[in-house]
Amino acid sequence: MPEIVACTAVHPLPDGEVRLLGAIDVVTGSMSRVDVGGKRLLVDCGVTQGRDPKRRELPEQAKEADALLLTHGHLDHIGSLPQLLDSGWDRPIFCTRATYEICRISLEDSLNMARTPDREITAFLRQFERQVRTLAYDVAATVPGMHGTITFRDAGHILGSASIEIVTDKSRVIMSGDLGRPNSPILRDANRVWKDDRDVDMVIMETTYGARSHEHTHEDIERTLERIVNDAWKRRAKVLIPAFAIGRTQVLLWFLSDLVEQKRIPEIPVALDTPMGLLVTETYKRAKRLYDRETLDRIQHGDDPLDFDSLFVVRRGKDSFRLRNTEGAMIIIAGSGMCTGGRIIGHLVDGLPDPETTVLFVGHQSVGTTGRRIQEVAEAGGTIRLDGEELPVRARIETLRGLSAHMDRAELLAWLGSIPRVKRVGLNHGEATAQAAFLEYAKERGVAPR
Ligand SMILES: [Zn+2]
Repeated sequence: MPEIVACTAVHPLPDGEVRLLGAIDVVTGSMSRVDVGGKRLLVDCGVTQGRDPKRRELPEQAKEADALLLTHGHLDHIGSLPQLLDSGWDRPIFCTRATYEICRISLEDSLNMARTPDREITAFLRQFERQVRTLAYDVAATVPGMHGTITFRDAGHILGSASIEIVTDKSRVIMSGDLGRPNSPILRDANRVWKDDRDVDMVIMETTYGARSHEHTHEDIERTLERIVNDAWKRRAKVLIPAFAIGRTQVLLWFLSDLVEQKRIPEIPVALDTPMGLLVTETYKRAKRLYDRETLDRIQHGDDPLDFDSLFVVRRGKDSFRLRNTEGAMIIIAGSGMCTGGRIIGHLVDGLPDPETTVLFVGHQSVGTTGRRIQEVAEAGGTIRLDGEELPVRARIETLRGLSAHMDRAELLAWLGSIPRVKRVGLNHGEATAQAAFLEYAKERGVAPR
C-alpha cells in the first residue's frame, strides 16, 4: 500500500529527489525538478494564472536544469518557457510533437497579448525550435548524459498530453501531468498499462478534482446542447459560446457534429470565430493518429467531427465584425473562454442586451472575470461594462456542465490503481482542500494506510 502525501514540496528518491517548484497546493503554475541519474530534469515550466509571465520571478532551480520535459501545452504548464529561454537557458526540451505544436500556438498568443514585439516572438519561436526534441508515446529516450530513460505515456487530457515515466538504475518516477477523463471525445484514454518488473518509488499526481465526482454523462451534455440549439433554431436566434481554444473548442465541435449526425439538431451554421481555436483545431485534425477508436470509426463512415458541413471558420477580424450583422440562427464559438478578451467581446456587446440571444458557458468562470460577472448580473440584475458600453443582461444565460478535462476522484484513484508496486505518492496541482479530500477518499477505500 503506497504512502500518500499531500501539499509537500520535497520527496526523496533512492538516487535523488523530486522537488515541486509550483502547484504544491494550488492548481496553476506547474513546475517540478526531478533530480535522478546524475541529471536535473525540469518537468513543466508553468505560469501562475493571472500573473504577467514576464514579471514573475523564475526559480533558480529551474534555470539549473539539464533538460526540460513538457507534459502538455496548457499555459499553466508552459507559460514561463519564454522567460526561461530569455535567461539564456539553452538545453534540450522534450515533449510530444502535438505538444510542441500547441505550445507554439499558445505561447505566441500569450506573448502577443503581453504586447511583446514581433521580432522577439520570432526569436523565441526559433530558439524553441532549436532546443526541442519531440518524442512519440511509449518510446524510451535518453537525456544526454543521464543514466536512465524518459518515456511519455498518454494522459488523455488534451492533444499530445502525457504522463512522464523516468527510470534510472535506482529510481522509477511517474509524473502524471494533467489527467483527462476516460471516454472523453476525440482522444484516447490515459495510459493504464505499466510494466510491473520493478517498484515505482514515486508517483506525483494531479488532484484538480480530488474532492469531486463528475455527475454529468455524455448524454446529459448532449441533451442540454440539444435543447438550447433547437430552441435558438426555432427563434432564428444566436447562441454565443465563449470557449477555451485548446481542447474545449474541439470537444464542443465533436458533440455538435454528433447531434447533427443523430439528427437531434438541424444543420445550424456553426462559426468558429477564434484564430487560436482555429489553429489548435487544425493541429487536432493533422494528428488523427492520436484519436480514439470511436472518433476514427466516425471518420471512416464519412463523419469528421472537427470538419462537418455546417461548420465555417472566420479568419479575419473584419469577417467577425460582419458576422455580428448576420441574421438567423447560428452558433458562434469565440474566445476567450472567460470573456476576458478576444472576439467574443464584440458578440457579447450585441448579444447581452438582446433577449433572443443565448450565451452558453461551457467552462468554469473564475471570480473577477467578465464571464463570472455576466453570470452574476444575470442572477442578481444590474449592468455590465464591456468595450466602453454599459450593458443590461437580457440574453438567456446558460451553462453546459460536464465538459471537464480532468479526472474526478474515482477516476484518479483508478488511474493510480493501474500502476503496480507504488511506494509513495505525492499530490500536487490541486487546492489544499482537494488534496486532503482525495487523501481521505483513498484511505476510505483502503488504497492508502490510515
Ligand atoms: Zn492542462
